[in-house]
Amino acid sequence: MTGKAYLVGSGPGGLGLMTMKAREVIDGADVILYDQLPGEEILATLPRDAELVDCGKYGGNHTLEQDEIEALMVERVRAGKTVVRLKGGDPFLFGRGGEEVETLREHGIRVEVVPGVTSAIAVPEMVGIPVTHRRYASQVTFITGHEDPTKPESALDWEVLARLKGTLVILMGVKNLPAIAAALTANGKDPATPVAIIERGLRPDQRVTVGTLADIAEKARGAGVRPPAVIVIGGVVELYEGFEG
Ligand code: SAH
Repeated sequence: MTGKAYLVGSGPGGLGLMTMKAREVIDGADVILYDQLPGEEILATLPRDAELVDCGKYGGNHTLEQDEIEALMVERVRAGKTVVRLKGGDPFLFGRGGEEVETLREHGIRVEVVPGVTSAIAVPEMVGIPVTHRRYASQVTFITGHEDPTKPESALDWEVLARLKGTLVILMGVKNLPAIAAALTANGKDPATPVAIIERGLRPDQRVTVGTLADIAEKARGAGVRPPAVIVIGGVVELYEGFEG
């Protein structure tokens, strides 16, 4: 007998933005592997009778490495369990969801993916920033800020990114924000371009910091901005309800 694996997106935080499908799959799970990104409100509702495994990948205190997480999933599915890997937002946007599906498939395990509302759109949205808008942006680019733009082996082309007319949405970009802002302006992006950083979106302690490409790194440092945060760069930031341009 083999069990089943699900890769589930929790949405950006808060029970209201979790899908009914996610709820159903979570409530029927024997094993749930989670990290902190889904947030307290959701984590508090995980079924007590399931085996709950904290993958604690948040803040650098790795309790389980990626290969250990994948190995544990394979082992439990083979033991006949229904296993849920719970991810913040949508599992296929910068969450290593794709890698986990690949590994499970290599072991002959079928995975059902349950999409989630991504923080990349919902977190700006909840403070009044649409990632596209006919007047400001007809395209949006989602990038990971995980990579240091000053490294020559960066997978991102900052010259191209600086030239794009639409909105840039950066996840995991807090640490590298100074280098990212510098790389964009060095490649010709207007230093007056508005930027918003939304920390802990949809949580009770959500906070927004706004500025321009020229001063956002300094403002973020002054405010002590910390992950998780979504960074939005572009004219749409002017629509933020607290914007004073
Ligand atoms: N798959 C997720 C993203 C995983 S990468 C999704 O679709 O939302 C992790 C990054 O997501 C964080 O570093 C942060 O940039 C962003 N993030 C996720 N939830 C967030 C939230 N509630 N508030 C702010 N940023 C969030």
